[in-house]
Amino acid sequence: MNKTIKAAERVSFFMIRLIELSISVILFIVVRYKQGGIMKVEKENGKELHDTDPRQAELERMNTALEEALKAAEAANQAKSNFLSNMSHDIRTPMNAIIGMTSIGLSHIDEKARVQDCLLKIRTASEHLMSLVNDVLDMSRIDSGRMTFNEEEFSLADMVHDIAVIMRPQALQKKHRLSIHIGQIYQENLIGDPLRLRQILVNIIGNAVKYTMDGGQIDVNFCQKTEEMDDRDGGRRFWLLFSCKDNGIGMSREFLERIFVPFERVSNTTISKIEGTGLGMAIVKNLVDRMGGQIRVESEEGAGSRFDVEIPLMAGQGEKRTKLPSGQSVLVVESRQDIALKIADYLAKEGLEPVHMDSGLQAVTWLTEARFEMHMPCALLLGQELGDMPALELAAHVRQLAGPDFPILLVSEEDWAEIEYRAVRAGINGFVPCPLFPSRLLGTLSDLLEKASEDEETYTNEDVDYSGCHVLLVEDNELNQEIAVELLTMIGVQVETAENGARAVEIFEASSPDYFNVILMDIQMPVMNGYDATRKIRSLPRKDAGNVWIVAMTANAFVEDIRLSREAGMNEHCSKPIDPKRLQEIISSRMK
Ligand code: ADP
Repeated sequence: MNKTIKAAERVSFFMIRLIELSISVILFIVVRYKQGGIMKVEKENGKELHDTDPRQAELERMNTALEEALKAAEAANQAKSNFLSNMSHDIRTPMNAIIGMTSIGLSHIDEKARVQDCLLKIRTASEHLMSLVNDVLDMSRIDSGRMTFNEEEFSLADMVHDIAVIMRPQALQKKHRLSIHIGQIYQENLIGDPLRLRQILVNIIGNAVKYTMDGGQIDVNFCQKTEEMDDRDGGRRFWLLFSCKDNGIGMSREFLERIFVPFERVSNTTISKIEGTGLGMAIVKNLVDRMGGQIRVESEEGAGSRFDVEIPLMAGQGEKRTKLPSGQSVLVVESRQDIALKIADYLAKEGLEPVHMDSGLQAVTWLTEARFEMHMPCALLLGQELGDMPALELAAHVRQLAGPDFPILLVSEEDWAEIEYRAVRAGINGFVPCPLFPSRLLGTLSDLLEKASEDEETYTNEDVDYSGCHVLLVEDNELNQEIAVELLTMIGVQVETAENGARAVEIFEASSPDYFNVILMDIQMPVMNGYDATRKIRSLPRKDAGNVWIVAMTANAFVEDIRLSREAGMNEHCSKPIDPKRLQEIISSRMK
């Protein structure tokens, strides 16, 4: 624990050192710029002082030159002041994230996953801060022609997900809809300089977020085109095509001509309130040029802007092959047609058979039949929008129906760290982040299928004959009732149902002695809850009232719930979603 606190403190300490260093560098560069301007004035001035020519015209020429030099010096001074104030603001934004995440991490120091999440976010913000400080250094490197690039293998999927992690919170803060779309991708593993590439893309998307009024729409698109190389180079080159379209404040035609000039910013009252250094686009243009790519900007004042970037990259090592059971069906539940089609396309290319549905109810009905007819799909891929119910609710129903090892993958734009707790409780056992890359989807699916086949156990115990077993199922939720009935009848159990506690008491009272082996009792129900119904059954004047096996079924399995069910007279507790194996254990223990 102490180690983690120290690590977090060390992160803050280094960040502060980093800011101090960056401000010194900025001041050094600015002072150099400023000295350059003033020296020029003195030179002209000196010339004038030692000039013995008395002619009036020459004097005037000198005066004009002096005035211009003075204006240039003043402009440089003004640029320096603006630059310093903007720069310190830009540094403060990621610093806030670092300080905030450090505090959150420290206050949840015992929760490993939370601390890890904070540290990862701190790392992302620190990297962004670093890139900001580097902007200033980059400009001087570009000026002196000392800019260098790395050649390393990187994953396009990782880079795009990093960008989404950096940009989504910023877009959310301004209530923008940021949609990141992935088009045709031929090669995910590429060779290039991922940090420089990310710098270009983050800069452009960052500007779209900044220069669009709250509640805007930003559409980012990534795709690739291939280019056959001549024999000398061999192989193929993959052009990364990136576009970013916003419906923000846009730029005038005149400004577009100067957009790539260092320190140039549109000057109007709206823009002057938006922080910026005017260096980003100059650096972007330089980086794209040096990578052998192209950048185009289209913009209309008041209507928005569109940036298109094309960068050539070489292919890295081939992607890891996944082992998927070809010919098997996979259920895909997602109401957004484009995402569903994309998932189906990726699965079909691997020889799987996608079955697409857009509503949760339709999916449960289909799965219930599939289970009954013994043609279950090998997995369920859940999208984030279903027509009729939240994805996690459907996951809970399916987990109950399909058993503990059945792969249920959530494909979502949400931050996994934020939904993990609820998702795991609902029965999700795999997560694929959006924007959706085939490698992520197929890799996660293949890992889960491998695990499921290792753990595979059969839930039907053929040695036990359940046909003489009678279960009273007390459950008000129709879907839960349907699933539990399905699970029980599948192994031959005879089930009767009651929709609330009062009805359960009536059915039990009317039954012949020792008819029911087990009563499965939901807790929260209308008319009469499970605790009251159990007390009533236990107090009935008949011999089996005291020994009929009553099992509490609740979504919560906290110690308190278990205590309350014991006090009400229940024998054991089975938490929902029901694990079929556990249900079978309970039933068979009452068959002896
Ligand atoms: P800054 O740090 O000011 O954002 P940049 O070099 O990134 O500097 O951009 C230069 C200027 O170009 C910005 O100040 C802004 O006036 C204009 N600009 C850049 N991107 C956009 C955009 N998407 N919409 C409107 N204006 C933009």
